[in-house]
Amino acid sequence: VDRLGRVRRRMDELGVDALLLSLGADLPWLTGYEAMPLERLTMLVVPAGSPASLVVPRLEAPRVQEIPEVFGLNPWAENDDPIGMVASLVGSRRRLAVSDRTWATFVLALQQRLPGSTWRPSSEVTGPLRAVKDASEILALVAASAGADRVASQLLGGDIHLIGRTERDVSQDIGRRLVAEGHQKVNFAIVGSGPNSASPHHEPGARVIRSGEPVVCDFGGTMNGYCSDITRTVWTGPPSAEEVEMYEVLQRAQAIGVAAARTGIRCEDVDGAARTVIAANGYGDAFIHRTGHGIGLEEHEDPYIVAGNRVELVAGHAFSVEPGIYLAGRFGARIEDIVVASDDGPRALNAVSHDLTVVET
Ligand code: ZN
Ligand code: ZN
Ligand code: ZN
Repeated sequence: VDRLGRVRRRMDELGVDALLLSLGADLPWLTGYEAMPLERLTMLVVPAGSPASLVVPRLEAPRVQEIPEVFGLNPWAENDDPIGMVASLVGSRRRLAVSDRTWATFVLALQQRLPGSTWRPSSEVTGPLRAVKDASEILALVAASAGADRVASQLLGGDIHLIGRTERDVSQDIGRRLVAEGHQKVNFAIVGSGPNSASPHHEPGARVIRSGEPVVCDFGGTMNGYCSDITRTVWTGPPSAEEVEMYEVLQRAQAIGVAAARTGIRCEDVDGAARTVIAANGYGDAFIHRTGHGIGLEEHEDPYIVAGNRVELVAGHAFSVEPGIYLAGRFGARIEDIVVASDDGPRALNAVSHDLTVVET
């Protein structure tokens, strides 16, 4: 109820007459119900000045837990016209916001039915609201991060064998462990070994991990709706002097990035803090992505820790700090923790060591 009130206030501020929520995390954030990615339309219509109503396929309706003070139900049968139902709920309103992940089929059909409308992504309404987590959401993020931490500890402790296995095999192993540690879903488990460690989003493949090389492991899942995301880089044998030096720079950059993440600081300045350390040590061109992303119901959401984002951190903002250094074709490394901004300073939700760790198993 409180969330709906905040949404309506923000619609008012932005001049949005109706909010249309379909696929994606906005709908479950607001209603507790997540639409299935079906060819049948599910859409919550929040018209300014009128009650919200969920247009939902009749066969999905039994899964919806109605919250009368938030939204009513508007189930449609196979021969009904759900686009027409949405259009009539919208009425004469024409300044519309629609879920970022609504199928284009539905958006195009609605645009035909509602001529003269202006359209914007719903994230402009919900993004800044969802970015600030309440106490129960922070607890959920803490629990998910703790689950990911237990898997990362197994990695650093040598329980996850690396040498002689393929990246794909290790990736699947990490995924199983995320589930064993309480996640309902594995979202990704990147394993990049040797030269593949220099590719930030490497797809784990048939490469067999050898001894004496870096292995970047970046993994996360969903626990009770909320996401975890952690990266640790380990070596399968003593690193070279150059790798040690590079990793030491990275470790400092990550720590300085986290320390910078105080309330009142702009997102772009957290990025800048980490980036400056890396650039000052000659690796500026090798840090090829933003420093971090918000996290919550989605793995990546507002606020983005990136140059140009002038949003100031407030207590409850949750995001990753994950600088990386990538020397193409040679080696790379990344360190990632989830951090929550609070009035007492930045709070890292991941507690697993950042020290250079050699795992000769
Ligand atoms: Zn990433
Ligand atoms: Zn990650
Ligand atoms: Zn991340």
